[in-house]
Amino acid sequence: MFYFINALTVLVIVLCFFAIIVHFRNDGIGEQKFVVFFIGFEVVHNLAYLIEINAHEFAIAQTAVKFGYMGFVFVGYVFAIFVYRYCHVKIPHILTRAIFAIDLFIFVILLHMERNKLFFKDMIWIDNGVQHPYIHLERGPVYFLFLFFSCFLPLFLAGQTLISVTINRPNKAVCKYYKFMLSLFMLPVTTQIIYINDLMQECNLMPSAVGLMAFGVGFIVYLQRNENYGYIDPDVVLKLMDDGVVMVDKFHRILGYNKAAEDIFSELSYQTLGSYVDDCEDFPPNILDEENKQNFKLNGRFYESHVRPVHDKFGKFQGYIIIILDVTDTTMYLEEIKRISEQAEKANKAKSEFLANMSHEIRTPMNAIIGLSDLIADESRGRKIYDYAENIQSASRNLLSLINDILDLSKVEAGRMELVPVKYNLKKTLMDVLNMMDLTASRKGLSLQYDIEQTLPSGLYGDEGRIKQVMINIINNAVKFTKEGFVKVSVCKAVSKRKNVINLQIKIQDTGIGIKQEDLTKIFEDFKQVDAKKNRGVEGSGLGLAITKKIVELMNGTIGVESVYGEGTTFTVTIPQRVVDERPIDEITEDVETDEKKPETFMVKNYSVLVVDDNLINRKVAVGFLKNYGFEIEEAESGFEAIEKVKEKKYQIIFMDHMMPEMDGVETVRNIRSFCGVNGRSAVIIALTANAMDGVKEMFLSNGFQDFVAKPLDRKQLNDALARWIPNSCKVTVAQDMPMDEEAISNEELDFKKINIPGIDIAKMIGHYSGTESEYIELLGLYCMDGRRKLIRFKELLDAEDFSTFGIEAHALKSASANIGAMELSNQAREHEYAVKREDYDFVNMHSAELISCYARQLDDIENYLNALKTKDKGKGESIGYIDDDTLKTKLENALKALEDFKSKDCAALIDELMRYELEIGVESKLEEVKRKLSLYEDDDAENMLKDLLSTLEQEG
Ligand code: ADP
Repeated sequence: MFYFINALTVLVIVLCFFAIIVHFRNDGIGEQKFVVFFIGFEVVHNLAYLIEINAHEFAIAQTAVKFGYMGFVFVGYVFAIFVYRYCHVKIPHILTRAIFAIDLFIFVILLHMERNKLFFKDMIWIDNGVQHPYIHLERGPVYFLFLFFSCFLPLFLAGQTLISVTINRPNKAVCKYYKFMLSLFMLPVTTQIIYINDLMQECNLMPSAVGLMAFGVGFIVYLQRNENYGYIDPDVVLKLMDDGVVMVDKFHRILGYNKAAEDIFSELSYQTLGSYVDDCEDFPPNILDEENKQNFKLNGRFYESHVRPVHDKFGKFQGYIIIILDVTDTTMYLEEIKRISEQAEKANKAKSEFLANMSHEIRTPMNAIIGLSDLIADESRGRKIYDYAENIQSASRNLLSLINDILDLSKVEAGRMELVPVKYNLKKTLMDVLNMMDLTASRKGLSLQYDIEQTLPSGLYGDEGRIKQVMINIINNAVKFTKEGFVKVSVCKAVSKRKNVINLQIKIQDTGIGIKQEDLTKIFEDFKQVDAKKNRGVEGSGLGLAITKKIVELMNGTIGVESVYGEGTTFTVTIPQRVVDERPIDEITEDVETDEKKPETFMVKNYSVLVVDDNLINRKVAVGFLKNYGFEIEEAESGFEAIEKVKEKKYQIIFMDHMMPEMDGVETVRNIRSFCGVNGRSAVIIALTANAMDGVKEMFLSNGFQDFVAKPLDRKQLNDALARWIPNSCKVTVAQDMPMDEEAISNEELDFKKINIPGIDIAKMIGHYSGTESEYIELLGLYCMDGRRKLIRFKELLDAEDFSTFGIEAHALKSASANIGAMELSNQAREHEYAVKREDYDFVNMHSAELISCYARQLDDIENYLNALKTKDKGKGESIGYIDDDTLKTKLENALKALEDFKSKDCAALIDELMRYELEIGVESKLEEVKRKLSLYEDDDAENMLKDLLSTLEQEG
């Protein structure tokens, strides 16, 4: 037994040492320092006991006993404090301090225990030789004090605390540790009973038991080192909460509430517990009826109440908990957000309105500028004026396209860009774009090559217009940024996962200036132009690619770019498109040859048209366009005037401006439809508007309009609209000898049918040409004059083997010849143009002689015809006879004056008049030449020639 106690004590000391080391090295829970004290005291206690039982002398044993008890005296106190803190239970300070004071007193007694005999009355050394000598201790009064205050009471307090938290705490994980700690109590309790009753005289198991317990406690705390469980009193929480909590029983009687609830409902503090919540006036009525949240406002603050029914553990309904949340900040915040979003919506609406207005305001004057400059160019006879008009035209078209770009961009950004999907013929669409861009590329001396996969499906469904816009934007850039080389468009398909859908892939490659690697991502940003130094002088707004990207993305497509700086750029656009006709494009040939097709032109007889617009210039432009059709045109400058006119007369078509003061177009149409009887109901009404926003067309259609033509007026659009609404039975083709306008009626004597020139197909020509016969004759003259120069140019180009320029010239010859009806020549030119595109120069070499001779023959034939016509004319004209030199000079001076005043038409008329006299051959040929110059708009040359002629005459005179 002796050895067992020895071994056990040594083991306990080793374990406790180990526990102390572990606890010193670890950060653990806050109570760790108490654990270290606890175990530390136990080490002293056990060491002393080990010395005591092994001592061979009384003095050593006595000292060991003293130190053993001194080590043990604070163990209970430390343990109790530890348990209180560990269980987060409030420490009963008075009691614990009293225990500590008594422990301290016992400690002092222990210091002098040999003398005062208060702790042990007597200590007797027993060495009977039978067993190991030991010290017999006779307990004194302080020993019992020690027993109660250092052992029993602290252990009782600790045990009671552990039991109460184990029962009351809901957290099972923590309770596990409490229970474990409680079970450790069994050790000291059992040994204490044994010791007090002196059941084992010679050995005391108490030190080992308490030591083991200390180690056990240390072990538990170590296990918990990562679970720093805290405990917070729910009552304290309730008190501290910012949200109000009111508890009521099933009869709506108040059971309790927290501070926050009292602050919210000031009345609560006047109500005693047990009074009915419904009697509290502050409470929103029926607060308990709803299980869902309720919102209410009290004293300027916003609250949200949540009601939860409470059931006991048997499921019996007990009452409610009402939680009141202060949602003032959230409500304010939401209201602020609502206000801001309303503001943003308003701003967005204002922006759209601004855009609509801006489009209207800017496009209306643009209409006047473009339309009138078109008319000026048409009617001008002088080169200068023609050039000015052309410049105005091109500048205003650029401005208009910029405005349209800005509108497009704003529309996409505002989510108002709508796609208009239609069924379209892919080849036709591609060829339309390529033919159009071919001209642009040719003008810059570039060849536009293309490679279209022939197995592409011919019919697709998508927004054809936008696809064209995307292609045109990118090809335009390619042409713009390429000085020499080519632009190549490749179109192929990538298979899509979706049924009946292909990914149409369009690659546009150029050999231009290229884009630096670091600029590749920037080019798609709004208003971004890169490499400003190199691109100086290149027109653009930096919007094209931004819009292109947005449109492509709107179509669920992608756009990418690759570029080698200085070598060229390739843009790749991929757009998913639904297939509606799977036949490959190479099988479908009809409808595609649109190259030379012009809008079908026609004329009408006895057709009344009313143009309603408050703006005089706009009316003039519209009338200028319409008069070519032979309409009987009337004008009205307001809605009121229009209504009066429609009441009086039946108009087949009414062109109605939208924005007019006093009564706008929509209201006017409503009145016309309602109050002008049959006249009002039967007319086709076409809106003229500069407001190009989406949805406007629908608005017109739902307000009694039949159609819509955007301003600035476009000949083709207008022609299309007229073609749509004028029944075929009323259309008379130009070939049927319908004069083009009143002026033409009196002057025109020729008949297209009478024109007979070899190589010219008059019937075909009529399909392409919409001018009068005299204009046609004039055109023929120009064609010849230009042709003679071109003929030389063709020869030069072929000699120099400059095939690409030859191709451009061939392209121009193709259209020019088609315009006058020289179809065979046009076809030959086309063959050459395509051969150059294919780089089939052998074809050009083999057939160019044929083309040139055909061209020369055609020019001869036309010239012969024109000469014959002139002779006939002269024969027909009255014989004016000879003219004397003075009259000749005066008339020439008048002609010169007219030219100096930029009246080239008058000058030409005066020269025509002069040529009816019998003139000297030299004078006549000079005047011929002047006329030719005038018809080429080379007014300056004509002026110089007239001056020369006059000075020669003066010298002769
Ligand atoms: P812009 O109207 O100025 O052409 P874009 O948005 O169409 O505006 O193009 C933005 C910029 O991207 C251009 O200014 C040019 O610097 C560059 N860029 C676009 N296409 C090409 C190209 N094919 N080759 C070289 N640079 C190009």
